[in-house]
Amino acid sequence: MSSLFPALVDGPGDRVALRFGDRSLTYGALAGAAGALAGRLRGAGRVAVWATPELETAVAVPGALLAGVAAVPLNPKSGEKELAHILSDSAPALVLVAPGAELPPVLDHLERVVVDVSASGALPEVAAGAEDPALVVYTSGTTGPPKGAVLPRRALTTTLDALADAWQWTGADVLVHGLPLFHVHGLVLGVLGPLRRGGSLRHLGRFSPEGVARELTDGATMLFGVPTMYHRLAEALPTDPGLAKALGRARLLVSGSAALPVHDHERIAAATGRRVIERYGMTETLMNTSVRADGEARAGTVGVPLPGVELRLVEEDGTRIEAYDGESVGEIQVRGPNLFTAYLNRPDATAAAFTGDGWFRTGDMAVREPDGYVRIVGRKATDLIKSGGYKIGAGEIENALLEHPGVREAAVTGEPDADLGERIVAWIVPADPQSPPGAEELADHVARRLAPHKRPRVVRYLDVLPRNDMGKIMKRALTDA
Ligand code: ATP
Ligand code: MG
Repeated sequence: MSSLFPALVDGPGDRVALRFGDRSLTYGALAGAAGALAGRLRGAGRVAVWATPELETAVAVPGALLAGVAAVPLNPKSGEKELAHILSDSAPALVLVAPGAELPPVLDHLERVVVDVSASGALPEVAAGAEDPALVVYTSGTTGPPKGAVLPRRALTTTLDALADAWQWTGADVLVHGLPLFHVHGLVLGVLGPLRRGGSLRHLGRFSPEGVARELTDGATMLFGVPTMYHRLAEALPTDPGLAKALGRARLLVSGSAALPVHDHERIAAATGRRVIERYGMTETLMNTSVRADGEARAGTVGVPLPGVELRLVEEDGTRIEAYDGESVGEIQVRGPNLFTAYLNRPDATAAAFTGDGWFRTGDMAVREPDGYVRIVGRKATDLIKSGGYKIGAGEIENALLEHPGVREAAVTGEPDADLGERIVAWIVPADPQSPPGAEELADHVARRLAPHKRPRVVRYLDVLPRNDMGKIMKRALTDA
């Protein structure tokens, strides 16, 4: 049962496991606190966690897992409507909170259990099987209402051990973490990952380039972030030599949850000598591919399938793409022990997500390069533009636009066009709102870099792009507006 976190049982008891601000817990203290909580939760079935970026969340989730109950992390910033949906969908027995947590009325009906990080109890003996649900995590809601993915214990251990192999991730690593704790990136990789390795986690509470620099200077070895964070680091680097030095020291800079713009990747590499490595995953599949720690980090690629993960590319008509030619685009389908079991209460959506022979349809489109590296071109639903007989990925146009000095942020979508089928639309946040680059100039810039048929036909200017809490661009919000 304790096999999820061996370090809690026989690990280095005095090693710091978790640090949030000025509060920290050693492995010994965490075993006591999580053990006490687990004793309280045994038999509870499913429990919600009010997943603030605090020490209590990082104790609550292992506590639930040690009790053999499934945890449902809640986003404290969700609106009442979304919370109401998640609560009625997942029907938790109670909600775990930090002392003094302020909960909206939609949670009033639930019993609250306050997590006491100074409690001390023995780890209970619990028989939980590999297929028992460990977490119900709601998808980011980028393309539609969030769905609850039921993740068995087996998926967590498999993915974390595959990442340990790919990243040479050990108990000696100290992770800097500034992500929210209610998605798999921040929770499974960022919290359960270090705990499974017996390493340390330092959470920034709120991401800042200063916080990252401070922790990396003070012995941290790895950073996990989403592209918006690496963008902020790239923007801060020219005026902050200390930050460049700190990032240069990191053993591993890892990006995921969305595509890292090539421009940001290259700027960070030029200023620090380190290349950010990308990994590709989903709530439903945990991690599928990654650049390996000892591999080449090429901008715009998400590396190779992780150990145990089978990956194939499939055309719309079901034909498998055998070529590793960097050109043939197909949907990524995956199979392996890293996968979820089902969407909660959604047998229809679950069935639709799998092919007849058990492959999960990711909805992400990609090509494979000759050496096996996967290059994601975008999501089937929003990022693949069919224009003038071509299938054009939004991502490479976005990357080209971001290289223009007058562009701060860019998103590309397709909209219906009588002649072309769809026309390419560029949504631009200009670097200087007083003098935005002209539509003609941007279209020429793209055509010169890529190909004439990839030039945006329409350019629209915005103050900001609509993004969700992981910094992902909500393309539906752009096109529905
Ligand atoms: P929803 O499924 O609710 O619309 P979502 O797909 O954004 O939301 P997640 O499961 O959090 O929810 O995100 C998984 C998706 O994020 C992947 O399908 C992929 O589109 C994208 N993604 C993750 N990592 C990368 C990456 N390194 N490069 C490009 N895209 C990525
Ligand atoms: Mg999704």
